[in-house]
Amino acid sequence: MASVSEPVRVRFAPSPTGRTHLGSGRTALFNFLLARQTGGEFILRIEDTDRKRYQADAERELLESLRWLGLHWDEGPDVGGPHAPYHQSQRGEIYLNYALQLVERGHAYPCFCSPQRLTELRQQQASRKESQRYDGLCRQLPPPEAQARIRAGESYVIRFKIPGSGSITVRDHLRGNITVQNQNIDDYILVKSDGLALYHLAAMVDDHLMKVTHVIRGSEWLPTFPLHAHIIRAFGWEEPIWTHLSIFLKPSGKGKMSKRDAANLMKDGFSIYLLDLREMGYIPEAVVNWIALMGWGYDDHTEFFTIDDLIEKFSLERLNPAPAAINISKLDHFNGMHIRRLELADLAQRVKPYFEAAGYQVDDERLLEIAPLIQERLPTLDDAPRIAGFFFDEDVNPDPPELVGKNMTAAESLAAVQRAYQVLSELAEFSSEAVDEPLRNLAEQLDLKAAQLLGILRVAITGQRVSPPLFETISVLGREVVLRRLKEATALLQDMHAD
Ligand code: GLU
Repeated sequence: MASVSEPVRVRFAPSPTGRTHLGSGRTALFNFLLARQTGGEFILRIEDTDRKRYQADAERELLESLRWLGLHWDEGPDVGGPHAPYHQSQRGEIYLNYALQLVERGHAYPCFCSPQRLTELRQQQASRKESQRYDGLCRQLPPPEAQARIRAGESYVIRFKIPGSGSITVRDHLRGNITVQNQNIDDYILVKSDGLALYHLAAMVDDHLMKVTHVIRGSEWLPTFPLHAHIIRAFGWEEPIWTHLSIFLKPSGKGKMSKRDAANLMKDGFSIYLLDLREMGYIPEAVVNWIALMGWGYDDHTEFFTIDDLIEKFSLERLNPAPAAINISKLDHFNGMHIRRLELADLAQRVKPYFEAAGYQVDDERLLEIAPLIQERLPTLDDAPRIAGFFFDEDVNPDPPELVGKNMTAAESLAAVQRAYQVLSELAEFSSEAVDEPLRNLAEQLDLKAAQLLGILRVAITGQRVSPPLFETISVLGREVVLRRLKEATALLQDMHAD
């Protein structure tokens, strides 16, 4: 059920100060889904006003992560759009002008308090166990006096003037009305002494200018949400519909996910960063499915969603404000499901870089033959070389003791390999169907269980105890390679037998 029928304008507005994690991916995804569902626009805006914390690498990683997930934006830094520039760092003058408008209308004021005074103030408040906030000293300054101090070159910031009494009621789409006493809201800084605007002003101005209809963002912005509404109302602008997403809990479900938890997860071989997930062999379809269900659900049982399903079924109403725990094993499950749906040619191309990264020289034709053999078995793409690298190896170097069949001696195993060699070398055809029956018959003749014989042959041919289906594997490897590997196994077993 679509909750919004008009085309929306939504934005994802990250600050590139660190790596892009699944929380950002989820916020971007929900915005994207609503835009696509309603035929609206998805805007990417880079909130890089904090130049000290800005990282160019983080911005590159951000764009790459979004592209990898398939969340393409209609307006943004690289594609442009009617409201360019989309980097806030290039819009400084716009914000300054709006801040001055607020000063003129009495909704903001210049504050000349030195950083030293503010530090002392905070210390005093802390020692009195009071909440730390600006005490409003410069609110009182008569405007002509303030202007004179500005002209005299004194350093100042611009603060928002929260009304001295009363309260404000704001509406979150999931949580309903939230009422806050104005005396509990700080006079936040809108523009710093260097003339650069801070997030609170810049984002509100941009949301207005960029005609954003719905703001979907993290719930870390709930505490300053009343301030944001105050700013918008001071300008007399229309408010967007606000939705604050749930927070993430650690995989244990106990407590909010922190940077340290993320580092600990990495020690355990997992990561919350999107490009790490790519490297670990997760496919974007699975990651999208997984993060969509963190804080959103269609009904109480449907779990499998493609991005097209999500575009059709997503609704703001079904978002859940309760914290969402990160369930890692679920991602593996989704990854397997989405891998099994891939077209074979697509799967072949996707596993290719993982083979190459593992040092294999691969050719497309061979990859295409292997794809159906591994599709059912791949938990993650990076498992492909471990499962199927032997297709590209010159020699598989089996571990000799593993060539000895279950409950068999080395001599018996040797005889089995030699007979299998003979049987296979006499076959006119080398398809999986053609090798199946003769090998099963051979097991019977040797008085072995099929599993015993095939177990030996598997190790001989693939070098591994676990492999894709053996007959298909034999067929793809081809007569020459299979017979050569059986020869090598024969030699190894002869050595063992001789010892
Ligand atoms: N730049 C803010 C952040 O990175 C965006 C918050 C918002 O979406 O309004 O969290």
